[in-house]
Amino acid sequence: MIDKARTQNLVERIISPNVQALKAYQVVPAEGMVKLDAMENPYRWPTELVHDWSRLLVDVELNRYPDPDPQVLKEALARAAEVPDGMAMLLGNGSDELIQILQTGCIAADRCVLALEPGFVMYELIARSLGMEFVSVALQADFSLSVDDMLKAMQRHLPVLTFIAYPNNPTANLFDSGALEKVIEAAPGLVVIDEAYSPFAGSTMMACLERFPNLLLLRTLSKMGLAGLRLGYLVGAPQWIEQFNKVRLPYNVGALTQATALFVLEHLKVFERQAEEICKNRDLLIADLKNFNCFEVFPSNANFLLFRTRPGEAIGIYQRLKEAGVLIKLITGASSLLSDCLRVTVGSAEENRVFLAALRKAV
Ligand SMILES: *Cc1c(COP(=O)(O)O)cnc(C)c1O
Repeated sequence: MIDKARTQNLVERIISPNVQALKAYQVVPAEGMVKLDAMENPYRWPTELVHDWSRLLVDVELNRYPDPDPQVLKEALARAAEVPDGMAMLLGNGSDELIQILQTGCIAADRCVLALEPGFVMYELIARSLGMEFVSVALQADFSLSVDDMLKAMQRHLPVLTFIAYPNNPTANLFDSGALEKVIEAAPGLVVIDEAYSPFAGSTMMACLERFPNLLLLRTLSKMGLAGLRLGYLVGAPQWIEQFNKVRLPYNVGALTQATALFVLEHLKVFERQAEEICKNRDLLIADLKNFNCFEVFPSNANFLLFRTRPGEAIGIYQRLKEAGVLIKLITGASSLLSDCLRVTVGSAEENRVFLAALRKAV
């Protein structure tokens, strides 16, 4: 039998204190549930597409390492995303890995990473895991970004990296692009615009890459419909990408992922249609939630909605939905701006119907 006390003693001596202080990213088990908690695309592929794809996978040589630098895939991604000429690209095992690569490339004990609050949790989790200082700047009550507050925080903390999700998660809104440009212009370090929700946003900062030498842009195939694939990409000036490429593990994107991504990019229309459908369902869902007359429903440029219940009711509603087999995300408590808030991913028409019926019983 292993000596638990002795092991614990060793762990406490050896694991770095900043890692011991972290709480691991929590994923709620969702087996058999209507899963509306993680911004996944609800649609499967047309049968014909599945057939063509599976035939392609048979030829992937799994005995060989994957291509460490798949040019054809990168070019296809750049074309699909309308990346400006002259930019370079780095691929990651999801954009989460690229957030880690970015921070690893800039790491030093006296350096800090800055992001907005409320914002995407991985920016902070990774900064802390690497022993860097993390500074957050609060959004306004309407979830807009205060340029003034950002500039002050930047002057004070001199962040090497500033992460801004556009649209933001979990608030679902786009920030004013003029405000973002002022922030990029004034930033003492790199600014990373994280466009994870670009398929639903109707807006991008991609064209700004040519104007700001300290700007990088992050994208992912996850929210578009390939969360299980794990492929994200970082774009920016070749000088930056050359440096960050040194801290990327050589075979971070598997051969099955590469082959699948290339196939998907040849059938982008299917996913664009799904995104349109999701945006339509999103607008219907907003109207339905407003009709409850007891929620504040926030505008969304993403594939999810943030809404506020009456004071003190969010946890109960979340629990009752869960008991009814519908999993959404409990957001209240995550930030002072998000009291009584819940977040729901836009599902298929049927999933949304089940969610709304369960919600009617839960309020
Ligand atoms: C979901 C999400 C990601 C992570 O995407 P992966 O590519 O699946 O790792 C990154 N940024 C934001 C803002 C997200 O919401």
